[in-house]
Amino acid sequence: MSIETILVLNAGSSSIKFQLFKGEASVLSGQIDGLGAKAWIKAKTAEGDKIVDRAMTDDEAKNHNSALGVLLEALKAFDPNLEVDAIGHRVVHGGPNMSEPQLVTPEVLAEVEAISSMAPLHNPHNLAGVAGAGAAFEGKPQVLCFDTAFHRSQNFNNEAYALPLSYYKNGYRRYGMHGQSYLYISRELHNVAPEIADKKVVVAHLGNGASMTAIENGKCITTTMGFTALDGLAMGTRCGTIDPGILLYMMQEKDMSVDEVAHVLYKESGMLGLSEISQDMRELENSNDPKAKQALEYYDNRIKRELGGLVACMGGIDALIFTGGIGENSAKTRAGVCKGLEFLGIELDEAANDRRASEAITISASSSKVKVMAIPTNEEAMIAAQTREICEAL
Ligand code: AMP
Repeated sequence: MSIETILVLNAGSSSIKFQLFKGEASVLSGQIDGLGAKAWIKAKTAEGDKIVDRAMTDDEAKNHNSALGVLLEALKAFDPNLEVDAIGHRVVHGGPNMSEPQLVTPEVLAEVEAISSMAPLHNPHNLAGVAGAGAAFEGKPQVLCFDTAFHRSQNFNNEAYALPLSYYKNGYRRYGMHGQSYLYISRELHNVAPEIADKKVVVAHLGNGASMTAIENGKCITTTMGFTALDGLAMGTRCGTIDPGILLYMMQEKDMSVDEVAHVLYKESGMLGLSEISQDMRELENSNDPKAKQALEYYDNRIKRELGGLVACMGGIDALIFTGGIGENSAKTRAGVCKGLEFLGIELDEAANDRRASEAITISASSSKVKVMAIPTNEEAMIAAQTREICEAL
């Protein structure tokens, strides 16, 4: 099947991010926000020309189906003769069995629905996007690309929690997230630094959500995110790894409800909670408040702590790659993480580091044993590429 135009959808609880690809080029991108309340749609071309930027009516914003109707209008405003050949979806959770993207069939949808309780904040909305796109683009193939798929190569030691074994069998595992980003970086390394592409690489995806993955030969050895998107690093508002005994204490001794605990862990913790100022890295870096400084130092230290574990499990490190909004743009974070890691063979070139990575940049000193880079990620391009691969084979 020949595939020219691909629509990539990332449907969240109250938002739908979208990007249109012609061949490999992204030609339009946009976002619907505030579904279910006061919704807004905006979209612009790759050149930055505005296609739509307006409030949506209550009827249009009722649900994902109605919102996709508005999205379709925006696509038609961009190109009245537009034919979408295939739709690629970001799906957060693929459960224990989905290690590859999947063409949408009734069987695949049933399996993804069955594991949706593991990602109640995400999967049902991703699937609503699939249903909406099915109605809007009748007869066109749809592909599901899972955030967890990249991490299915972990062995038992790295995937299991030390709960009774029956829990592992029942799906209590380290699933990992940000898989599209890790896959993109792994493939991109073949273009920008082929000498390390198949070696031992740690990728730090540092955005609002954040995780790190040890990758050897393009395959995940292990990752910091676990059963849910709460595990691992400290994030914008999420706590990352904490002693589960804290949750027991909050509920048993402090009479906090499950919802109250969840709110603290997901929404009030991380950089926002520690700094008491903001979850936004830029704001913290620009602040003179000692609490901002303390939170930033904490952030870097959490990354070092995880880096040590990942390197030990992989048996070494040849390259460290920063990506995501913070990894690509924050020279301060990269410098803070690398400081004191000379014993691992990591030496930064401060001048090379002192810029934003609008394209792949090497930031290690020439004497550094470990190559350190910052590479912009592109999860949507990865979803489009996989959608194309699957649909062209049909
Ligand atoms: P993401 O979720 O990947 O879009 O990343 C969002 C995070 O990147 C936010 O914490 C931003 O503050 C951070 N970020 C974006 N640009 C910069 C910058 N120039 N310097 C520091 N942090 C940045």
